Amino acid sequence: MFDVLIIGAGPAGMTAAIYAARGNLKVGIIEQGAPGGAMVNTSVIENYPGFKKIEGTSLALEMFEQVNDLGVEYFGYSVIDIEKNEDIFKVTVEGLAEKLESKALVVATGTKNKHLNIPGEETYKGKGISWCAICDGSFYKNKPVAVIGGGNSALEEALYLADIASKVYVIHRRDEFRGAEILVSKLKVRENVEFILNTIPLEFLGEENLKQIKLQNKLSSEVFTIDVDGCFEYVGQQPANQLISKLEITDERGYVVVDKNFETSIKGLYACGDIVAKEIRQIATAINDGAIAALNIVKYCKE
Ligand code: NAP
Repeated sequence: MFDVLIIGAGPAGMTAAIYAARGNLKVGIIEQGAPGGAMVNTSVIENYPGFKKIEGTSLALEMFEQVNDLGVEYFGYSVIDIEKNEDIFKVTVEGLAEKLESKALVVATGTKNKHLNIPGEETYKGKGISWCAICDGSFYKNKPVAVIGGGNSALEEALYLADIASKVYVIHRRDEFRGAEILVSKLKVRENVEFILNTIPLEFLGEENLKQIKLQNKLSSEVFTIDVDGCFEYVGQQPANQLISKLEITDERGYVVVDKNFETSIKGLYACGDIVAKEIRQIATAINDGAIAALNIVKYCKE
């Protein structure tokens, strides 16, 4: 039996693993994808202290090595179900015959990409439409692409794509960006970046692959198309909460409600990182959550 099992190996989950292992707990971490969470799909990170500029995959690897060196048991599978019986959590993991058991459980499953849900999206998903510039950007070397969204993800990944694509259209539904001003300034000086503001996407068009996006200017109502080979959607995130939906620990938006110790209303069940109901979602805040949760779990397990 584990002292604590952590579901999700993003920065929050990995930080919780590091602190719990250093607190002498027996720790297991379960992750269905690559360790690193959203960092793995982030080209460059420039606001994580200690690294002026680091690739998302490199920071993920650094954290993962630290977790591994502390003897944390890693399960590269999906979690199917969570139950609690007489103060013990039982976690059903795809591919494991036996349920994993622990005294405390941490949900650090983060968020998943929202989709635009407009005509043509299903048809051209993987045939021009992507949610990951670092994974798919290289397909568009010297070709025109669009980035949809005005948050930090859209702006950062537009900068990354500007080094690869012949042209990057940044399409945003307002004339003010939600993302950091420093990123907007960096984009403004790039010759191959064009902002298309106050504009919403209506439809993706093409033949076998994506060829055009039909857009509408919200102020003039003008409908027009742009020619692109690729389109990267960065229109926000939604909580990856499928696993915990039956536990009634989320708010009306589906994010997990926790107390100051990052414990949910279920004793011994903690949550940290982007899945938590809060205002700011950064690597730095995920790490904050993971550290606080784990230090409280160390106390909880020794009670
Ligand atoms: P976000 O901040 O929620 O931004 C989503 C963007 O998509 C917004 O600009 C929004 O427009 C636009 N949008 C939403 N629905 C749309 C629709 N149906 N049609 C057109 N546009 C639509 O999401 P994010 O950029 O993925 O970031 C998620 C969180 O991670 C944020 O807290 C962000 O700060 C953080 N993050 C931080 C960093 C960093 O600090 N390095 C990097 C990446 C992400 P409106 O602005 O009009 O709502």
